Amino acid sequence: MGANDIPFLNTGIWNGKLFLGGWNAATSAREILEPATGAVLTRVGIATPADATEAAKRAKAAQAAWVALPYEQRAAIFRKAAAIIERETEGMTQWIVRETGCIPPKAGVELHMAVGILHEAAGMITQPSGLMLPSDGGRISLARRVPHGVVGVISPFNFPLILSIRAVAPALAAGNTVVLKPDPQTPITGGYLIARVLEEAGLPKDCLQVLPGGADVGQTMCADPNIAMISFTGSTAAGRSVGELAGKHLKKVTLELGGKNRLIILDDADVDLAASCAAWGAYLHQGQICMTTGVILVHEKIAARVTEQMIGKATHLPVGDPATQQVALGPLISERQRDRVHGIVEDSIKQGAHLAAGGSYEGNFYKPTVLTNVKPGMRCFDEEVFGPVASIVTFSTEDEAVSLANNTEYGLSLGVISASVGRAMALANRIPTGLLHINDQTVADEPHIPFGGRGASGNGGRHGGPANWEEFTQWQWVTIKDSAPRYPF
Ligand code: NAD
Repeated sequence: MGANDIPFLNTGIWNGKLFLGGWNAATSAREILEPATGAVLTRVGIATPADATEAAKRAKAAQAAWVALPYEQRAAIFRKAAAIIERETEGMTQWIVRETGCIPPKAGVELHMAVGILHEAAGMITQPSGLMLPSDGGRISLARRVPHGVVGVISPFNFPLILSIRAVAPALAAGNTVVLKPDPQTPITGGYLIARVLEEAGLPKDCLQVLPGGADVGQTMCADPNIAMISFTGSTAAGRSVGELAGKHLKKVTLELGGKNRLIILDDADVDLAASCAAWGAYLHQGQICMTTGVILVHEKIAARVTEQMIGKATHLPVGDPATQQVALGPLISERQRDRVHGIVEDSIKQGAHLAAGGSYEGNFYKPTVLTNVKPGMRCFDEEVFGPVASIVTFSTEDEAVSLANNTEYGLSLGVISASVGRAMALANRIPTGLLHINDQTVADEPHIPFGGRGASGNGGRHGGPANWEEFTQWQWVTIKDSAPRYPF
């Protein structure tokens, strides 16, 4: 069965359209290409800045009625949405595989996470939303969490379903309405699947608007007076610009940005397991993950053996079209991205890195690559690659490992592998990151954990679990007296 044969996801629903006040024709449209084959997958409307203004206005108008709905009715929408994803898993898997160029298990992770995030959102609605506080004169005094109003969500192409729904669902659950701008390369996975699911689950009209579009649409959202908060996931460069604009317009902004994550392998590590972790962390989804293991720091005593195993894995992992073949790696998202990855590999070799495996491509398929002799100052050490490139750096002392690990402006995820948990924890405590995995690689996420990074990886915001209350609501202090008092004036 082809993706278009599935009625729930029939492309006719969104052909040339935006989800703006429901499915409506856009003034311009764009063909969405499959990264593996270059074939046209579907066609969607592309939003303009004026559409973003209209969407924000509609979302703002819908918010009061949404938050006033009985809590049980709102929670039921998220539970139903989760059940729809479970019902439609087969068709959605095909869309995710073909639109993002991923292997089916990665699509499975996206769908599994999306279901979990929707259940968490349903649960959030019945969690306590405030505190009783003492106050002068015995009046009732409480601090309660209230929605911001309209939340603007801007998401990237790599894990589009998770990275959109992890903000859309809790923002709605907290009583906000939402304008979502997925990356225009992945508008179905990052936007229209969510619109279809929530629409069928009974989300009232105008509570969610979905606008595939470019940076101009995102910037309009950051400046629009009807949008109170921006949840942005994407590159550090774009995040800086979003942060600046949101700051100028006094909006709350959560920035989840790039990473250059370290996996530190100490001299007492099991070499087989460490190499397996390093390969998984570096090559999963072609390295197009913010938490990708970007630098592998290995103790010099075992570096040769870890490197040899990495070369073996890189040489044997099959690369190809994940929709038609059993492969470990699919394509990079675009030629542009492929050229960027290749440019970093070539420049790093010129700067003194040794190419031990890979370093070449066919079409958008980039071979798993191993670079050794990597040092600070080389592009593959300093920059987020967003491609399947394992950069191996050796160290001789723990102090040197800490210094190399901290030689980055990013701070998203860290993995440390050692036979001694105490030793690994002591080392990790000297390296500030948002996520820390002892005896594991750097890529992991779960629906209920507070996810996010530090430094150039974000502005301290988090998505998930308790963090959703912090991000998607704000405090209101409320006092209540039986009757108004008389003052000296
Ligand atoms: P990108 O920054 O180019 O695009 C992300 C989104 O922002 C897209 O929707 C894009 O259209 C929009 N955008 C771009 N410029 C904008 C601007 N000036 N104003 C408003 N919106 C703008 O990122 P990308 O290359 O598509 O995604 C990859 C990046 O995202 C990597 O750096 C990766 O590490 C990061 N990422 C971070 C996380 C996280 O949770 N920390 C998760 C996934 C990806």
